[in-house]
Amino acid sequence: MEIRVVKNILEANEVIASQNRKLFAEKGVYVANLMGSPGAGKTTLLEKTIEHIKGRMRIGVIEGDIATSRDAERIAAHAIHAVQINTGGACHLDGNMVRGGLEGFDLDQIDLLIVENVGNLVCPAEFMIGEHNKVMIISVTEGDDKPEKYPLMFQVSSVLLLNKIDLLPYLDFDMKRFQGEALKVNPKLKIMAISCKTGEGLDNWFRWIEERTSKKGS
Ligand code: MG
Ligand code: ZN
Repeated sequence: MEIRVVKNILEANEVIASQNRKLFAEKGVYVANLMGSPGAGKTTLLEKTIEHIKGRMRIGVIEGDIATSRDAERIAAHAIHAVQINTGGACHLDGNMVRGGLEGFDLDQIDLLIVENVGNLVCPAEFMIGEHNKVMIISVTEGDDKPEKYPLMFQVSSVLLLNKIDLLPYLDFDMKRFQGEALKVNPKLKIMAISCKTGEGLDNWFRWIEERTSKKGS
Protein backbone atom coordinates (compact mmCIF):
# COMPACT_ATOMS: atom_id res chain seq x y z
CA MET A 1 0.00 0.00 0.00
CA GLU A 2 2.67 2.43 1.05
CA ILE A 3 4.74 1.65 -2.04
CA ARG A 4 1.77 2.49 -4.23
CA VAL A 5 1.35 5.90 -2.58
CA VAL A 6 5.01 6.78 -3.07
CA LYS A 7 4.78 5.75 -6.72
CA ASN A 8 1.78 8.04 -7.25
CA ILE A 9 3.56 10.98 -5.62
CA LEU A 10 6.59 10.50 -7.84
CA GLU A 11 4.43 10.18 -10.97
CA ALA A 12 2.51 13.37 -10.15
CA ASN A 13 5.80 15.15 -9.56
CA GLU A 14 7.09 13.89 -12.89
CA VAL A 15 4.26 15.66 -14.72
CA ILE A 16 5.02 19.03 -13.11
CA ALA A 17 8.76 18.59 -13.59
CA SER A 18 8.28 18.02 -17.31
CA GLN A 19 6.15 21.18 -17.53
CA ASN A 20 8.96 23.09 -15.82
CA ARG A 21 11.44 21.58 -18.21
CA LYS A 22 9.37 22.67 -21.21
CA LEU A 23 9.24 26.21 -19.85
CA PHE A 24 13.02 26.26 -19.38
CA ALA A 25 13.47 25.11 -22.97
CA GLU A 26 11.13 27.83 -24.27
CA LYS A 27 12.97 30.50 -22.30
CA GLY A 28 16.44 29.18 -23.09
CA VAL A 29 17.40 28.68 -19.45
CA TYR A 30 19.86 26.01 -18.39
CA VAL A 31 18.97 24.57 -14.98
CA ALA A 32 21.19 22.69 -12.54
CA ASN A 33 19.87 21.03 -9.40
CA LEU A 34 22.57 21.21 -6.71
CA MET A 35 22.28 18.57 -4.02
CA GLY A 36 24.30 17.49 -0.99
CA SER A 37 24.35 17.08 2.78
CA PRO A 38 24.07 20.05 5.13
CA GLY A 39 27.52 21.59 5.37
CA ALA A 40 28.92 20.02 2.18
CA GLY A 41 29.52 23.51 0.77
CA LYS A 42 26.56 24.07 -1.58
CA THR A 43 26.08 27.76 -0.87
CA THR A 44 29.81 28.49 -0.80
CA LEU A 45 30.20 26.75 -4.16
CA LEU A 46 27.37 28.89 -5.50
CA GLU A 47 29.03 32.07 -4.27
CA LYS A 48 32.31 31.12 -5.97
CA THR A 49 30.48 30.17 -9.15
CA ILE A 50 28.54 33.43 -9.25
CA GLU A 51 31.69 35.49 -8.73
CA HIS A 52 33.40 33.65 -11.58
CA ILE A 53 30.70 33.81 -14.25
CA LYS A 54 28.35 36.67 -13.41
CA GLY A 55 29.95 39.06 -15.91
CA ARG A 56 29.37 36.66 -18.80
CA MET A 57 26.08 34.97 -18.02
CA ARG A 58 22.87 36.02 -16.34
CA ILE A 59 22.34 33.90 -13.25
CA GLY A 60 19.34 33.25 -11.05
CA VAL A 61 19.29 31.17 -7.88
CA ILE A 62 16.56 29.30 -6.02
CA GLU A 63 17.45 28.44 -2.44
CA GLY A 64 15.63 25.52 -0.88
CA ASP A 65 15.75 25.33 2.90
CA ILE A 66 13.56 23.91 5.62
CA ALA A 67 13.64 27.28 7.40
CA THR A 68 15.36 30.71 7.33
CA SER A 69 16.44 32.85 4.38
CA ARG A 70 20.14 32.85 5.32
CA ASP A 71 21.39 31.27 2.12
CA ALA A 72 19.28 33.50 -0.15
CA GLU A 73 20.68 36.53 1.70
CA ARG A 74 24.23 35.27 1.11
CA ILE A 75 23.49 34.90 -2.62
CA ALA A 76 21.70 38.26 -2.88
CA ALA A 77 24.81 39.91 -1.44
CA HIS A 78 26.48 39.05 -4.77
CA ALA A 79 23.94 41.17 -6.65
CA ILE A 80 22.19 38.07 -8.00
CA HIS A 81 18.45 37.55 -7.93
CA ALA A 82 17.72 34.80 -5.41
CA VAL A 83 14.38 33.33 -4.41
CA GLN A 84 14.08 31.47 -1.14
CA ILE A 85 11.74 28.51 -0.86
CA ASN A 86 11.08 27.37 2.70
CA THR A 87 9.74 23.85 2.64
CA GLY A 88 8.36 24.10 6.17
CA GLY A 89 9.79 20.75 7.19
CA ALA A 90 10.05 18.86 3.91
CA CYS A 91 13.58 17.62 3.37
CA HIS A 92 13.73 18.12 -0.43
CA LEU A 93 12.38 20.32 -3.23
CA ASP A 94 9.88 18.92 -5.70
CA GLY A 95 8.66 20.15 -9.08
CA ASN A 96 5.72 22.01 -7.63
CA MET A 97 7.78 23.98 -5.11
CA VAL A 98 10.20 25.00 -7.85
CA ARG A 99 7.32 26.02 -10.09
CA GLY A 100 6.16 28.33 -7.29
CA GLY A 101 9.66 29.76 -6.96
CA LEU A 102 9.82 30.50 -10.70
CA GLU A 103 7.14 33.14 -10.26
CA GLY A 104 9.85 35.27 -8.65
CA PHE A 105 11.88 35.43 -11.89
CA ASP A 106 11.74 36.90 -15.36
CA LEU A 107 13.09 33.82 -17.13
CA ASP A 108 13.74 35.84 -20.29
CA GLN A 109 16.46 37.62 -18.32
CA ILE A 110 18.27 34.47 -17.14
CA ASP A 111 20.68 32.10 -18.87
CA LEU A 112 21.55 29.90 -15.92
CA LEU A 113 19.32 28.92 -13.01
CA ILE A 114 20.93 27.06 -10.15
CA VAL A 115 18.62 25.45 -7.64
CA GLU A 116 20.23 24.72 -4.29
CA ASN A 117 18.26 21.83 -2.86
CA VAL A 118 17.60 21.22 0.83
CA GLY A 119 20.67 19.80 2.58
CA ASN A 120 20.07 16.05 2.50
CA LEU A 121 21.96 13.15 0.94
CA VAL A 122 18.87 11.05 0.28
CA CYS A 123 15.50 12.18 -1.06
CA PRO A 124 16.38 15.24 -3.20
CA ALA A 125 17.73 12.58 -5.57
CA GLU A 126 14.24 11.08 -5.99
CA PHE A 127 12.51 14.22 -7.22
CA MET A 128 12.89 15.75 -10.66
CA ILE A 129 12.32 19.50 -10.73
CA GLY A 130 12.68 20.00 -14.48
CA GLU A 131 16.46 20.39 -14.32
CA HIS A 132 18.86 19.58 -17.15
CA ASN A 133 21.41 18.06 -14.77
CA LYS A 134 21.70 17.06 -11.17
CA VAL A 135 24.99 18.00 -9.55
CA MET A 136 26.05 16.72 -6.15
CA ILE A 137 28.63 18.06 -3.75
CA ILE A 138 30.09 16.08 -0.88
CA SER A 139 32.94 17.00 1.42
CA VAL A 140 35.85 14.77 2.39
CA THR A 141 34.78 15.10 6.04
CA GLU A 142 31.69 12.99 5.22
CA GLY A 143 33.84 9.90 4.68
CA ASP A 144 35.01 7.81 1.72
CA ASP A 145 32.31 5.15 2.18
CA LYS A 146 29.27 7.18 1.14
CA PRO A 147 28.74 6.20 -2.53
CA GLU A 148 27.64 2.66 -1.74
CA LYS A 149 25.74 3.70 1.40
CA TYR A 150 23.74 6.41 -0.39
CA PRO A 151 23.85 5.21 -3.98
CA LEU A 152 20.85 6.99 -5.51
CA MET A 153 22.25 10.52 -5.45
CA PHE A 154 25.48 9.30 -7.00
CA GLN A 155 23.47 7.41 -9.64
CA VAL A 156 21.33 10.32 -10.77
CA SER A 157 24.03 13.00 -10.74
CA SER A 158 26.04 14.05 -13.78
CA VAL A 159 28.79 15.69 -11.75
CA LEU A 160 30.19 14.84 -8.33
CA LEU A 161 32.11 17.65 -6.67
CA LEU A 162 34.35 16.36 -3.89
CA ASN A 163 34.86 19.43 -1.72
CA LYS A 164 37.24 20.48 1.06
CA ILE A 165 40.21 18.56 -0.32
CA ASP A 166 42.41 21.07 1.55
CA LEU A 167 41.47 19.04 4.67
CA LEU A 168 42.77 15.70 3.29
CA PRO A 169 46.05 15.82 5.31
CA TYR A 170 43.98 15.72 8.53
CA LEU A 171 41.67 12.86 7.58
CA ASP A 172 41.81 9.16 6.82
CA PHE A 173 39.99 9.63 3.53
CA ASP A 174 40.86 7.00 0.94
CA MET A 175 40.54 8.80 -2.39
CA LYS A 176 40.96 5.59 -4.42
CA ARG A 177 38.21 3.85 -2.48
CA PHE A 178 35.86 6.82 -2.82
CA GLN A 179 36.38 7.24 -6.54
CA GLY A 180 36.16 3.47 -7.09
CA GLU A 181 32.86 3.24 -5.22
CA ALA A 182 31.40 6.30 -6.92
CA LEU A 183 32.23 5.01 -10.39
CA LYS A 184 30.93 1.56 -9.52
CA VAL A 185 27.59 3.13 -8.61
CA ASN A 186 27.64 5.42 -11.68
CA PRO A 187 30.30 4.76 -14.34
CA LYS A 188 29.37 7.98 -16.19
CA LEU A 189 29.84 10.24 -13.18
CA LYS A 190 32.24 13.15 -13.72
CA ILE A 191 34.22 13.50 -10.50
CA MET A 192 35.93 16.80 -9.72
CA ALA A 193 38.05 17.24 -6.60
CA ILE A 194 37.76 20.81 -5.39
CA SER A 195 38.36 23.15 -2.51
CA CYS A 196 36.06 26.14 -2.30
CA LYS A 197 38.45 27.46 0.34
CA THR A 198 41.64 27.45 -1.74
CA GLY A 199 40.01 27.48 -5.17
CA GLU A 200 41.78 24.27 -6.22
CA GLY A 201 39.95 22.40 -8.99
CA LEU A 202 37.18 24.96 -9.38
CA ASP A 203 38.18 25.86 -12.94
CA ASN A 204 37.04 22.41 -14.11
CA TRP A 205 33.65 23.03 -12.59
CA PHE A 206 33.32 26.56 -13.99
CA ARG A 207 34.20 25.27 -17.45
CA TRP A 208 31.64 22.48 -17.21
CA ILE A 209 28.73 24.67 -16.13
CA GLU A 210 29.56 27.45 -18.61
CA GLU A 211 29.73 24.94 -21.43
CA ARG A 212 26.40 23.44 -20.44
CA THR A 213 24.78 26.85 -20.14
CA SER A 214 25.95 28.02 -23.54
CA LYS A 215 24.57 24.82 -25.08
CA LYS A 216 21.40 25.16 -22.96
CA GLY A 217 21.99 21.70 -21.60
CA SER A 218 21.54 19.93 -24.90
MG1 MG B 1 23.22 26.18 1.79
ZN1 ZN C 1 12.66 14.63 1.49
